[in-house]
Amino acid sequence: KLENATIKAELGRASWKLFHTMMARFPEKPTEEDSLALKTYIKLFARLYPCGDCASHFRQLLKKFPPQISSRNAAAGWACHVHNQVNERLKKPLFDCNNIGDFYDCGCGDEKKVAGE
Ligand code: FAD
Repeated sequence: KLENATIKAELGRASWKLFHTMMARFPEKPTEEDSLALKTYIKLFARLYPCGDCASHFRQLLKKFPPQISSRNAAAGWACHVHNQVNERLKKPLFDCNNIGDFYDCGCGDEKKVAGE
């Protein structure tokens, strides 16, 4: 099948949205198990991301910038940084990571209703 840039971009937007929103809900003080879960998720995301070229570029990025999983701030800042790396490669505008704080809202209300908390 032919490449379709529109569909590929749509998948990218949907994926980044989930990725950043997940970071925004990651515990501020994660347990070791929380941190391991996030690390594993990121690794498998990079392995299974449906656009193969994107995934292999992303795996290179993970080698250069290992996932920061020690806290919500660390994880959100890291995800913003690696997304900016992708933006740079695709010649897109960079996002100001100082503004990541309230940008990703899951709409799910109560902070305490995260699985496992
Ligand atoms: P997107 O980059 O999708 O961003 C969506 C929105 O997120 C933006 O409008 C902005 O509000 C916000 N945002 C932007 N930067 C950041 C940031 N740093 N932190 C937080 N929020 C931000 N496409 C390719 O063509 N080739 C690739 O190799 C490729 N690799 C990818 C790898 C991964 C892991 C993912 C998830 C996607 C990849 N994509 C790739 C898709 C690409 O990154 C974009 O998602 C797609 O091109 C649509 O771009 P967009 O301009 O709509 O904004």
